Amino acid sequence: MALKYKRILLKFSGEALMGPNDFGLDADTLNSVVSQVKALRDLGVEVGIVVGGGNIFRGAQIQNSGIQRTTGDHMGMMATVINALALRDVIESHGMKSQVLSAMSIEGVSTGFNANVVKKQLASGEVLVFAAGTGSPFFTTDTAAALRGIEIGADIVLKATKVDGIYTADPVKDSSATRYQSLSYDEVIQKNLQVMDMTAFVLCRDHKMPIRVFDMFKDNAVIRIVKGEDEGTLVGE
Ligand code: UDP
Repeated sequence: MALKYKRILLKFSGEALMGPNDFGLDADTLNSVVSQVKALRDLGVEVGIVVGGGNIFRGAQIQNSGIQRTTGDHMGMMATVINALALRDVIESHGMKSQVLSAMSIEGVSTGFNANVVKKQLASGEVLVFAAGTGSPFFTTDTAAALRGIEIGADIVLKATKVDGIYTADPVKDSSATRYQSLSYDEVIQKNLQVMDMTAFVLCRDHKMPIRVFDMFKDNAVIRIVKGEDEGTLVGE
């Protein structure tokens, strides 16, 4: 079967790697996520990953503590590096080549991001993990996902969440909430739906980068998506 998407940018929040815990990383969850990445590679899909850090630290959580917001955001970006390092090792343990490319320079730990080099690495089959978000405070890793997706020429940004798509209301609180199959960029803005933060969303809209929100832990969801099946909610295609 022909692939609908040949190169993807996969976004995992830190929480997606936390499993049943309320902090940090869960080994089974990491391995389960990476086995999906392996299945993608076996199909020949080129995979770039942006990972969040919310399972460890978020800059906004230290208000009124004496720690400046910019310092908190640096701490948050470092948290994404911790997650990226773990992901890289688990990816390699599943027999794939991988590397952490960080937007903050950490000599001896990660290398920098260069879109030209990255495209060649992806084409050669390496799975790249993009860490430290955009490298600047006041942004999120969703914005990094939009940015890196556009920079590497991805066909789509796939945002893995706990919920299997975008709903009319929070399905946890409202049992009558229904899932949107697809939405235009304008509909997301008119309905004030929280797909990603606005900076990330506008970047995708302006560069016509489609976004699909889906549940990574639903059976083979990401595999079915790259094959062109309808899963979760599609925005902007
Ligand atoms: N962060 C930042 N700039 C970026 C990306 C992230 O300052 O470009 C910081 C910010 O403090 C954020 C934290 O890193 O709260 C973790 O990222 P995020 O909240 O996006 O992680 P997720 O919710 O996806 O786990």
